[in-house]
Amino acid sequence: MTLETEFERVSLPLENPFTISRGTQTEAVNVVVRISDEGGMTGVGGAAPSTHYGETADTVEAVLPALLDAVERVGDPHALHEIEGELAAVVNGNPAARAAVSIAVHDLAAKRLGVPLHRLWGLDPSAAPATSYTVGLDETERVREKAAEAVEAGYPVLKIKLGTDRDRELIDAVREVAPDARIRVDANEAWTPREAVDKSQWLADRDVEFVEQPVSAEDPEGLRFVYERSALPIAADESCVTLSDVPAIADRCDIANLKLMKTGGLLEARRMIATARAHGLEVMCGCMIESNASIAAAAQLTPLLDYADLDGSLLLAEDPYDGVDLSGGEIGLGDRDRAGTGARLRTE
Ligand SMILES: [Mg+2]
Repeated sequence: MTLETEFERVSLPLENPFTISRGTQTEAVNVVVRISDEGGMTGVGGAAPSTHYGETADTVEAVLPALLDAVERVGDPHALHEIEGELAAVVNGNPAARAAVSIAVHDLAAKRLGVPLHRLWGLDPSAAPATSYTVGLDETERVREKAAEAVEAGYPVLKIKLGTDRDRELIDAVREVAPDARIRVDANEAWTPREAVDKSQWLADRDVEFVEQPVSAEDPEGLRFVYERSALPIAADESCVTLSDVPAIADRCDIANLKLMKTGGLLEARRMIATARAHGLEVMCGCMIESNASIAAAAQLTPLLDYADLDGSLLLAEDPYDGVDLSGGEIGLGDRDRAGTGARLRTE
């Protein structure tokens, strides 16, 4: 079969500047991939490259021609295993670029079969956990306002970024306006192991659910120190990048946080979920700041998860793609009768 492929860079301004312990971003640059079959049916996927993992829109655009050549060479959009294997063989690393291609091929395959992707996998849409809504670092008053707005919009789970000398003040401010919300925190590697253990007790007393990436991914012994002493469950994000990291973190955390932009594809993400389960870990799927060209695909995995953190498109001023309905935090996988990932250009 002849497949046609193309890609396009899209700059997506954020609704508000988004700050974590490592820095601030005001826009997300994604690269959208489209793969079409001979009948004109098109699958779409997005890359949301992260400099933390060595990628930019430039590196994505540099490797996409070779990745898309591999897809055209295989020529069968249903040969998902063969294609994802070829993508990993063509380039080392570059997970966001590979994820965009994997998503587009999966979208096309499911569309050709006329089913939503989660149905192709045999998943129950009602099993999807609610997504959290993330509040980035900011002045304490702004964090309070943003948390209040999220509660007002119906989000039942808040993820609060920490890693400042005001962490306790920030959580107190959030708890004032969100007394009943489930709250998770993400330090993005900012704490020392001892500080993380101390803060875990304080956070447990404020009914926080778990702590994500308390210490540097470069300090696996520090992560183990925290895990063995923490008053709260520990999720690994920066310490859990690819499948081979899962066995290494299994005795250092409770929850593996995978992202399509780290795994490099949907099949690899499903393998990572199975591997994490085999090691007794709970599983969460997060995201970068991404349009629905990729978030809608991650949403298809949610019936396999314990926790979802898929609010990346909600932080955009405007998403050119419409996808799975996430309003109020509920992942409405079964709400829209759409084949594939559910991603559609809003102008279509
Ligand atoms: Mg994180």
